[in-house]
Amino acid sequence: MGPQGAGKGTQAALLAERLGVPAISTGDIFRANIKGGTELGRLVQEYTAKGDLVPDSVTNDMVRDRLGQADAADGFILDGYPRNAAQVTELDGILADLGVRLDAVLELTADRDELLGRLRKRAEIEGREDDTEDAIARRLDIYAEQTAPLTGAYSERGLLVRVDGIGSVEDVAERVAGALAGPRG
Ligand code: ADP
Repeated sequence: MGPQGAGKGTQAALLAERLGVPAISTGDIFRANIKGGTELGRLVQEYTAKGDLVPDSVTNDMVRDRLGQADAADGFILDGYPRNAAQVTELDGILADLGVRLDAVLELTADRDELLGRLRKRAEIEGREDDTEDAIARRLDIYAEQTAPLTGAYSERGLLVRVDGIGSVEDVAERVAGALAGPRG
């Protein structure tokens, strides 16, 4: 977990490589479907472009399907899910049905100025449709309102690991590795 620009996608990919499990990013799956012109892509485009959450019914079904695929049988890293309280409940159900449990919930932190700086830079480089000023502000607001509070529940379950996301990619990756090796709370 972590706000837009905190480095979730970058760190998830590095961690996935290190652990030999897939990094599953709901945002990446939506973008690939939009690019590929699939039915799912057509369904979600209006939401992602504005920076709104895709309806839970769509997102939950997609995640359930993805986590049930063979390459996720020995573990996975989820990036961008769950993002609201209903998705936490849904994920609990999906994991129970699969007979697996979360090892840890990693939260990457960074202050708003750092996030805005990174996102504006990414907008120039990648030209993502939702890296406009309006959509960035909307996503950060939704994160603060709906997603950030979820860390409390995971902390109570003893799963939360908080890592400072400021610094070089390598430094943060080392912090992540170190934090996952230590106790949770
Ligand atoms: P960011 O974290 O920068 O917003 P993501 O790639 O994680 O980028 O997500 C891009 C968009 O995909 C979101 O703004 C939202 O529209 C949609 N999305 C991704 N994950 C979810 C989710 N768990 N629930 C609902 N919508 C999602």
